[in-house]
Amino acid sequence: SRAIELRDVSKKYGDSYAVRQVSFTVEPGEFLVLLGPSGCGKSTVLRMIAGLEDITEGELFLGGEHANSLLPRERDMSMVFQNFALYPTMTSRENIGFPLSLRDPAADHDPAVEATARMLAIEDLLERLPGQLSGGERQRVAMGRAISRRPSVFLLDEPLASLDARLRHHLRTEISRISAELDATTLYVTHDQSEAMSLGDRVAVLRDGVLQQLSPPQDLYARP
Ligand code: ADP
Ligand code: ADP
Repeated sequence: SRAIELRDVSKKYGDSYAVRQVSFTVEPGEFLVLLGPSGCGKSTVLRMIAGLEDITEGELFLGGEHANSLLPRERDMSMVFQNFALYPTMTSRENIGFPLSLRDPAADHDPAVEATARMLAIEDLLERLPGQLSGGERQRVAMGRAISRRPSVFLLDEPLASLDARLRHHLRTEISRISAELDATTLYVTHDQSEAMSLGDRVAVLRDGVLQQLSPPQDLYARP
């Protein structure tokens, strides 16, 4: 069945709609990009899928099951944020292992943490604190924390926006590889058109909370 389905999903803050009647589906293993200018509702859509915001109107299905009222931890997914949001007093090893310890406090998670670190080429950063890492390294650790549990859905909210252009380009390729290697369904939020075009199997364009278009990148700007 479909990995993710939104049916006429809306989000209201007070009297105004941040997201209005958005419908789309994401197939298992697909890489879908949500593209649009700042304030158009991209993060809100992602946060509703993650369960971090309530859905005001409409229905969300995850793996074919109605999911509006599932708690975030009941959803088999994890999220990477623009500001990384690493725990500042934990080493990379502890940050990456944290989701695993939550699930099973007694087990030894070092092998799983090290396998994830190898995937991200950060084996030599495992004993450092976030404050001892560069921006790009922090984002790799944040991705490690998100994927150490091997979620079936991987959500990324402007993960590269705070990095310089060279790193953005490099990590873009890495994200593509990691998503494929995990075989995860990936939703990726960005305002950067070239990022969207290079990463997405399909690109959903949002404007003022409304879904304008949803198509493979090569068809985005094709004339009818
Ligand atoms: P984007 O991710 O595309 O930048 P957001 O989803 O963050 O857009 O925001 C969409 C709209 O909803 C914006 O107008 C924003 O100001 C508003 N918004 C987002 N979160 C809240 C909130 N917690 N309370 C009120 N308004 C919000
Ligand atoms: P982004 O655009 O990168 O998603 P924002 O800076 O818009 O991030 O939002 C950061 C946080 O502030 C989010 O939790 C969002 O819900 C909240 N937020 C955004 N816009 C508003 C707003 N107008 N009023 C209250 N909270 C908001």
